[in-house]
Amino acid sequence: MTRSGGASVYRPLDVDTVIDYVRNRPEARAHLDTSGVLEAVEVGDGNLNLVFKVFEAGGGRSLLIKQALPYVRVAGPSWPMPAERAGYEARALALEHRCAPGLVPEPYWFDEVLMLNAMENLADQRVIRFPMMEGKRYRDLGATIGDFLARTLYATSDFALDAAEKREIMKGFFNIELCRITEDLVFTEPYLPDAPRNRWNPRIDADVADFQADERLKAEAAKLKYRFMNATQALIHGDLHTGSIMANDHDIRVIDPEFAFFGPMGFDIGAFIGNLWLSGASHEIHSPDPEARRAYRRYLIDEAVACWAAFEAGFRRRLEAVSSPSWASPAFQDDFVASVLRDTAGYAGCKMLRRIVGFAHVADLDSIEDLDERARAERIAIRIGRRLVSEHARIASFDDIVAIAAEALEAHDA
Ligand code: ADP
Ligand code: MG
Repeated sequence: MTRSGGASVYRPLDVDTVIDYVRNRPEARAHLDTSGVLEAVEVGDGNLNLVFKVFEAGGGRSLLIKQALPYVRVAGPSWPMPAERAGYEARALALEHRCAPGLVPEPYWFDEVLMLNAMENLADQRVIRFPMMEGKRYRDLGATIGDFLARTLYATSDFALDAAEKREIMKGFFNIELCRITEDLVFTEPYLPDAPRNRWNPRIDADVADFQADERLKAEAAKLKYRFMNATQALIHGDLHTGSIMANDHDIRVIDPEFAFFGPMGFDIGAFIGNLWLSGASHEIHSPDPEARRAYRRYLIDEAVACWAAFEAGFRRRLEAVSSPSWASPAFQDDFVASVLRDTAGYAGCKMLRRIVGFAHVADLDSIEDLDERARAERIAIRIGRRLVSEHARIASFDDIVAIAAEALEAHDA
C-alpha cells in the first residue's frame, strides 16, 4: 500500500474512490473517523478542478479534497493543463496559512501523486459571488480582504525577506501554465478582434469594436501586462475574484490560490476591487428598485474603500518596522504605496473588461437572461474598466478610483 491510498500513478478520483483514498490516508484520522461510514459528494463549480467533500455519515466531521485534472475542467481533455498546478496551490496555501491564519482554509496534506490538496471543509461558508447578486452584505468584507492582502503581500516581499530567501521561495512559483492563462485571457485576447476564445453579448458588438480600436487603452493594457510578467514584488494569489472568497456572517476566507506566483501586488487588490464594480454594474438589473440599488452600490463602494484602507494601513505599519535600511526612507515608502495604488486601478480595469469580452465571464452579468438588459449592465462595467485601464497611471488616491466607479454606477441611477 502506498501513501496515496494504493495509487502510485496519477488517476482522477470519483465519489467512491475518494472515500477509499481518505480511509487509507493516515493524516485523515485527525479530521474524520476513518473507520466509520464515510460519504462523499463532488461540489466543484470552478473552471479547473475536481472538488470533493468527504464527511462522516450523518453529517459529522468532514474534509475537502481538491484534485487537479490534467486538463481544464470546463474545456475537457482538448485543453491540456498540467496537474502539477496542485503543487502551486499547496505551496501557496501553506504560505498564506502561515501569514494569514484563519483567513484561508487550513491545509491538511498535499498528495503529489494524485495531485490533490486536502484541506478544511468550509461547510457553513458560501462563495460570495452568488449571494452578492441577491444583495447580500458581508460585514467587514473589504477590511478582511485588505488585511489578508497586507499580510500575505508584505510577508512575501523584499521588505520582509532578504533577497536570497525570497529567491529560494520564488523557485517554487514559476507557475508557467497558469501565468500563461492570465497573460492570454486577461491581457491579450480581450484586446484582439479575432481571438477565437473571446465571446460577448452580441448586443454590445459596437462597444467591443470601439474599445478594441482604442490605441491608448491597448497601450496601457500592454504596460500592465508587461508589469504583470516582470514585477516580482510578492507572492500574489493570482485569482482573487469574488468566486475565490467564501464567507458566512462571521467568517471570511480566501480559497483557490493555484494561480499564485511572484507578481505585482496591485493585481490581487485590483482583482477584488474590479469584482466589486462588476457586482455594482450587475445590480443595474439585479436590483430594479432604485433605492435598493443605490444602497447596495454604496455598500460596495464602502467595502472597496475599506479594503484599500486596511491594505494600506497594514502594509505601511509593517513597512515602518522594516529591518533593512534600504527601504526605510519615507519618500521611498510613499512612492511604493502610490505605485501599488496605480496598479490596483489598472488591474481592476483589466479584470473587468476580460469578464465581458474574454473567454471566462462572471455569473453576476451572465445570469441576466435578457440580452438588452445584460448589455445595459455590461456597458456600465465597460465604462469603468476602460477608464481604470486608460487612466491608471494618473490615479493619485483611492478616491480617484471610487470617482471613476461612482460616475458610471450612479449616472445610471439618476
Ligand atoms: P477551481 O480551481 O476549479 O476554480 P475552487 O478552489 O474555486 O476550484 O473550488 C471550486 C468550488 O469548490 C468552490 O467554488 C467552492 O464551492 C468549493 N470549495 C473549494 N474549496 C472549498 C473549501 N475549502 N471548503 C468548502 N468548499 C470549497
Ligand atoms: Mg475557482
